[in-house]
Amino acid sequence: MEAIKHKNILAHRYLAVIEKEKWILAHDGGWRRGVMTTNMSECLNSVLKGARRLPISAIVHLTLMRCVQYFIERVSRGGRMVQENQLWSDYACRMYDKWARKSNEHRVAKYDVREQTASVATVGRPSRGQHIQVVKLSTSDCSCGKWTIFGILCSHAICTAKWHSLDPTTLVQAWYNISEYLATYEGRFQPLADERYWDPPTFELHHNPVRRERRRVGRDRTTRLRNEMGTTVSRQRQY
Ligand SMILES: [Zn+2]
Repeated sequence: MEAIKHKNILAHRYLAVIEKEKWILAHDGGWRRGVMTTNMSECLNSVLKGARRLPISAIVHLTLMRCVQYFIERVSRGGRMVQENQLWSDYACRMYDKWARKSNEHRVAKYDVREQTASVATVGRPSRGQHIQVVKLSTSDCSCGKWTIFGILCSHAICTAKWHSLDPTTLVQAWYNISEYLATYEGRFQPLADERYWDPPTFELHHNPVRRERRRVGRDRTTRLRNEMGTTVSRQRQY
């Protein structure tokens, strides 16, 4: 916070009144696992791109079709992961492999066998960070913070586990297992028949003219926060 204060006092004032667990991954209590709010927004936007400002029925139909497509792609991806005998999802495999390669650059000094602690130094790369990190396998913790944030062993934890004769792959959080990935997308969608075959609705829709009244002259100002999706749409309109 002091660094932010030094850089921008207004930003510091803005953030000072917001609970840290809402905007700092290191203080979120382990709930987000590396997923920021903006990541989640962009994920939804990527699925629903192009749906904005369409008629309501078109938005509903497009949302359904995009979600169906999203699930079909991931079920297929899960099948491929099973065939290739992956331990975890693609994301976890990529992260683990990257840190496993980096673990070869570390030098480990064991401290406590019962709590499985060690200090880990990086060697061979003078230009890169040569901090000494402290790993405690008994509490799944490394001072670099990556293990806590992502639930995947960082390079320091991987080499520490090996030094304590443990298989590091058994210490990755279970929610990255293929079975969990498949369970996430096991929901099924049913094809929607033509409107003529639907049951008659048990309710009536009433138009509320008050809500359609223009409150002021000119174009209404939107209160929506612009993001990457909105920027792309407005850029396209310029041509
Ligand atoms: Zn670490």
